[in-house]
Amino acid sequence: MPRPPYPHNVADFNRMFPDEDACLAYLGVCRWPDGFRCPRCGHDAAFALPRRRLWQCKSCGHQTSVTAGTVMHRTRTPLLIWFWAAFWMTAHKPGLSALQLQHMLGLARYETAWLILHKLRRAMVDANREPLKGTVEIDETFIGREQLGLRGGRQLAGRKALLVGVAVEVRGGGSGRCRAEVIPDATAATLSPFIVRNIALGSTVLSDGHRGYQGRDGVAALGYIHLPRTQESFRKAGTEDVVPHAHRVISNLKAWLLGTHRGVGADQLPVYLDEFVFRWNRRRTPMAGFQTLLGLGTHHEPTTYDEVLGRPPAAGVPRTRGRKTGLTRISHPAPAST
Ligand SMILES: [Zn+2]
Repeated sequence: MPRPPYPHNVADFNRMFPDEDACLAYLGVCRWPDGFRCPRCGHDAAFALPRRRLWQCKSCGHQTSVTAGTVMHRTRTPLLIWFWAAFWMTAHKPGLSALQLQHMLGLARYETAWLILHKLRRAMVDANREPLKGTVEIDETFIGREQLGLRGGRQLAGRKALLVGVAVEVRGGGSGRCRAEVIPDATAATLSPFIVRNIALGSTVLSDGHRGYQGRDGVAALGYIHLPRTQESFRKAGTEDVVPHAHRVISNLKAWLLGTHRGVGADQLPVYLDEFVFRWNRRRTPMAGFQTLLGLGTHHEPTTYDEVLGRPPAAGVPRTRGRKTGLTRISHPAPAST
């Protein structure tokens, strides 16, 4: 069954979602694209209870929440605010900070904007997504402040920055989909599972000459065609970059983290990596992410505040970050009800 249309621009949005009732009706259409069907008795007629965001079966009286399974479930924030937030998150190419969203939507509390954005971000990971395939470049990078006195590009001891593994498809002369994950180190024991999680077996994997990609537990042993490229071999061939597509993803990622978010705390970095990957992989059809962000037509469990934060902070006390990345540290707001 076809998915309901999504807004492509502000004019679309205003036409589709003039008010709260229109948002509620849209949730119903997303839940039952072929028309209402009572989950208990199968009856095909219902009336809406808009204030409680419920549809009630006209035959048996069974009530179905149209927000169940979406990011809006059990929140008191108007649906229209959620819809606008999802719209701007997809329409605005680099995304938004909570402060920007608060100002754009005229929200009284920063905490509300912050929590909305984090719930939308949670929908950016699709557990069933297809692995990368074809020809894939891989590399790792440190995200965080430059430090003096470290030996070697991959030294971990004493380093405050976090290591991130990156993989990107090479399609013709351009880049396809990408993946990025925080990884504890650059050993074969860490890199191999990262590769298996993200790249389809049988693909061709391009990397630099790093030891963690080679040997008994290396990429080739996993069932990939591995083409390691050493700086030396490339200098001879007269080419500049060993894995140019991976390096382009990495420089885009770093610029985005600093430009849009002014850096992020270490414990939130994985969430921002997911957002980066989501945007990168949809960069040609960004608005198609509108429904995904709201959790429509998917089966994401609603995210609680505790899940967003990892654990609840003491009320009114900004939580101190764990490991510092050296990037801007963002303090958590006090729990807010949305
Ligand atoms: Zn019924």
